[in-house]
Amino acid sequence: MRIQFVDLKAQYDSIKEDIDSAIQWCLDNTRFIGGKPITDFEEAFAKFCNAKHCVGISSGTSALYLALKAHGIGPGDEVIVPTHTFVAATEAVSSLGATFVLVDADEKTYNLDVEKLKQAITPKTKAIIPVHLYGQPADMQQITELAEEKSLVVIEDACQAHGAEYKGKRLPYAETACYSFYPGKNLGAYGDAGAVVTNNEEIANKITMQKDHGREPGHKYDSSVEGFGHRLDTIQAAILNVKLKYLEKWIEMRRKNAELYNKMFSDADVITPYEADDRKHVYHLYVIRSKDRDGLQKHLKENEIDTLVHYPLAIHQQPSYKDKGFKASDFPVTEKIVSEILSLPMYAELTEEQISFIVEKVKEFKV
Ligand SMILES: *Cc1c(COP(=O)(O)O)cnc(C)c1O
Repeated sequence: MRIQFVDLKAQYDSIKEDIDSAIQWCLDNTRFIGGKPITDFEEAFAKFCNAKHCVGISSGTSALYLALKAHGIGPGDEVIVPTHTFVAATEAVSSLGATFVLVDADEKTYNLDVEKLKQAITPKTKAIIPVHLYGQPADMQQITELAEEKSLVVIEDACQAHGAEYKGKRLPYAETACYSFYPGKNLGAYGDAGAVVTNNEEIANKITMQKDHGREPGHKYDSSVEGFGHRLDTIQAAILNVKLKYLEKWIEMRRKNAELYNKMFSDADVITPYEADDRKHVYHLYVIRSKDRDGLQKHLKENEIDTLVHYPLAIHQQPSYKDKGFKASDFPVTEKIVSEILSLPMYAELTEEQISFIVEKVKEFKV
């Protein structure tokens, strides 16, 4: 039995008719930029997030870039980012001419360590980007209180955490969060797509113009400010409109699968994900830790089970940043966990039989 890491075909098959007719609508109306699917999606996703505004963007990376830019982040500013994450957040910071400052991870939640975050704040710090890694919210109360005390902006990287909750409240917890709808995300388009969700109308208006060449909505050949091209495209929005209706159900199915994994792993020699009491983890990724990760990954591959590592290189280890002179000793927790983490297959349609096969093969491997 071959088990894929993510099975997008199984999901497509379950909603094929609705997806096909949503795409067909765009073709029949030759509507590829702007239009009703975009405004419908922005309204529906804002509502899903219990937020006032959603602005559709071409990707999660561009959403981070535009959110930082709308908050005036630029040269001379420092932005704090966890080192244990995907490169998008630091790319967004650098693209604006600002400097990113890295912070180590917490060993239990894998999110940024708030004590170390405090030590990283300098007079130049302007913003913090907490990443809700793997689908579990970072410690938002402590982070937002700290940010308020120091007058810092908080931009949440919720690219892996659609629908996740912190103390009973669905994200965003702070004012602004960025989402990715990359195909494999919990809410995935059929290409690149993203969004900024915010409760701040001024920020929403700025981003609405910035993503569309600095034009006011409805204007064609006059730009009020210099912007850029970061629009969400219509076919992607049409697909997302169909899928958003299933997101809550899919999250519950992921959580049920995580619970099954946890239960079956209770007597295994691996560390399973920790879910804090006050958080709802949406399990974009189900990540275990093993003392011999590479050996375990190889054993699973031999048994036709696909796994991945998120991420084999932390930001401070990236070749692209080797000139920045980061020291491994500044990030001891991340240094340790990146060699132990392994992401197992996780998606809503995964069956109990598949989970039990995966667990059996993991247990079979002796370190
Ligand atoms: C996917 C992802 C992004 C980037 O999203 P894209 O839509 O691929 O640009 C940013 N941050 C995190 C944590 C992600 O997982």
